Amino acid sequence: MKITTIVGARPQFIKAAAISRAISRRSGIEEAIIHTGQHFDANMSDVFFSELKIPQPLHNLDIHGGAHGAMTGRMLKGIEDILIDEQTDILLIYGDTNSTLAGALAAAKLHIPVAHVEAGLRSFNRAMPEEVNRVVADHLSDLLLCPTFEAIKNLKNEGITAGVHHVGDVMNDATLFARSIALKNSKILERLNLSPGKYSVCTLHRAENTDDIDRLLRLVDFLEIESDGRPMLFPIHPRTKAVFVEHNIQPKHLQLIDPVGYLDMNCLLASATTVYTDSGGLQKEAYFHRVPCVTLREETEWVETINHGWNRLWQTDNYCTPRRDIPEYGDGSASDMIVDLLLAHSANL
Ligand code: UDP
Repeated sequence: MKITTIVGARPQFIKAAAISRAISRRSGIEEAIIHTGQHFDANMSDVFFSELKIPQPLHNLDIHGGAHGAMTGRMLKGIEDILIDEQTDILLIYGDTNSTLAGALAAAKLHIPVAHVEAGLRSFNRAMPEEVNRVVADHLSDLLLCPTFEAIKNLKNEGITAGVHHVGDVMNDATLFARSIALKNSKILERLNLSPGKYSVCTLHRAENTDDIDRLLRLVDFLEIESDGRPMLFPIHPRTKAVFVEHNIQPKHLQLIDPVGYLDMNCLLASATTVYTDSGGLQKEAYFHRVPCVTLREETEWVETINHGWNRLWQTDNYCTPRRDIPEYGDGSASDMIVDLLLAHSANL
């Protein structure tokens, strides 16, 4: 069986690494990776390929920048050209980026089955580009690989029931793989002169936060107050950095650093007091490390983290109590379940 995988952005490299590892444990499967180029900096892309030993992409489309439609259009053409030239049995897409949408569209038009990892998530906020991407991708997918029961419910509400499977969260697999390596090898705490349990971590890059300067300034004020005299580490995404530079935003109490690799990130998360983020991935990673999270948004797709007491929205009062484990994220075998489903799907074609 030949799988073609589409990746383009940081969280996709991390998820794809977990599934590529599961694929390499099986015989009879060949994987070809297409990197769209959406994230291209060394610290947003290369570091994940080298640290997580992801197979080198067969193609790099080098497409980034520009408006959403233009970027997605160029990706659509690039991916279609490759899929026309190279036979593939199934196209594997991840999450909710423009690369996800372009991959789904290209394959569906060529009648190539599409498998969507992280299917069914919804914020119910169509102003988010991610929401538009994931809704369309789900409706074009043949295999919908859901991390949560809520995701299955969301799909059912949109009339999608065929090919839907609960597999757990591949990011849990990724964390379980990285944590022990990170704790052994990462020197980031020493490098940044941090004591375990005496700092927090923040990331912020969603367009809804960075494109509205008043909102961004309110968030920065909130974070400054929350830091409460202790270091708050802020690995700053290139998009956010550009806005900070343009508007000369210089937070006094936040420690801005360049984006870090996944192992350093796991090490930082493991002994943080709190995680502040608008990232989907980090909300769950905070839970995987059993660190409370404050989500810098007005809603979240990962409602279980809120319902189980690990997460709260920044404008709401407090966490639910008591904190409970979230079994539906799985036991670290989501990637193997996904590979089983891909094999079964292709055998039935
Ligand atoms: N991440 C990282 N280094 C950083 C910031 C984030 O390795 O400096 C990881 C983080 O641990 C998570 C993923 O990147 O696994 C989240 O990516 P991002 O926030 O870009 O995307 P989202 O989760 O919002 O889709």
